[in-house]
Amino acid sequence: MKKHNFSAGPCILPQEVLKKAADAVINFNGLNLSLIEISHRSKEFVEVMENARSLVKELLNLPEGYSVLFLQGGASLEFLMTAYNLMKVDGKAGYIDTGAWSSKAIKEAKLFGDVEVFASSKDKTFNYIPKNYSVPSGLDYVHVTSNNTIYGTQFKEFPKTDSLLVCDMSSDIFSRQLDFTQFDLIYAGAQKNMGPAGTTLVIVKDEILGKTGRTIPAMLDYQSHIKSDSMFNTPAVFPVYVSMLTLQWLKDLGGIPAIEKLNEAKAAILYAEIDRNPLFNGFAEKEDRSLMNVTFTLANEDHKEAFDKLWNAVGISGIKGHRSVGGYRASIYNAMPIESVQVLVDVMQQLEKEI
Ligand SMILES: *Cc1c(COP(=O)(O)O)cnc(C)c1O
Repeated sequence: MKKHNFSAGPCILPQEVLKKAADAVINFNGLNLSLIEISHRSKEFVEVMENARSLVKELLNLPEGYSVLFLQGGASLEFLMTAYNLMKVDGKAGYIDTGAWSSKAIKEAKLFGDVEVFASSKDKTFNYIPKNYSVPSGLDYVHVTSNNTIYGTQFKEFPKTDSLLVCDMSSDIFSRQLDFTQFDLIYAGAQKNMGPAGTTLVIVKDEILGKTGRTIPAMLDYQSHIKSDSMFNTPAVFPVYVSMLTLQWLKDLGGIPAIEKLNEAKAAILYAEIDRNPLFNGFAEKEDRSLMNVTFTLANEDHKEAFDKLWNAVGISGIKGHRSVGGYRASIYNAMPIESVQVLVDVMQQLEKEI
């Protein structure tokens, strides 16, 4: 049976990307060798890496002066790498706490220096994005999490600051149009909207590096990775390749303006049903709703068995909510077709008829 994959991560990828990736594991570019058994320094793989990096720059409209890296260690390693590379000795960083992932980033940064959490939505189980805060001055950087995968909230406006702006964009990169030059550093684990787990995209403005007064171990120093074109050590060849295929797929589709329209359409039909159907409640505040992760609960828990039976029967997978929120979370990343979202909307309406 066809499955409708709403997994929050690792998540759905385009079918054509998966087919090409499968082929390349057996026979890459007609070499009669597998992509994963050739040297990462071969001409063929160097081309993949260069192509992936230039697609990132092109899709995000990045000007000169930014480096694009494909690293390992997940977004979780970036929680500490960002602090290590940007927080001065005796320095201070500011964070907005919008949930589990930013809380983890805050915890790691505290290992390197002074951290001020100047805004938080913890008081309401992170169901909104803080507003009307004032950004302290004199910070080495400000850190935000653009999309809160677990709670289904998303920044629409980013803080205005004279300090550097760092963004964990793991679960909404390449999903909407933004002025990406407002950020000095962006990081994203591949597995939410770009590729398989195993590589992390880092986009960093070159001029901000090397200014902390710290000695940074080479593997944790962005500058060593920049100097060696993301090949300081063996890169995650397969995840980088599949990410490149997904970025190419996105470009062929019309890039971010085109995918943004599709993402808005998908989110619109699902949120409309949540708001219309008396059996469901949205979790996130309306104005802060995520286009990527749609969180909702049943108005009456007694309907759980009936609803779970309905969506299971039509091949829906991966909509169980995170344990800290409960209920349901439908992740509708770039590769999710609107038809699958409609299937979910249909079973929500079906439940209403049956009750
Ligand atoms: C999943 C996720 C992470 C953690 O990513 P890993 O690659 O597993 O370390 C960090 N931030 C956000 C916003 C996420 O959604």
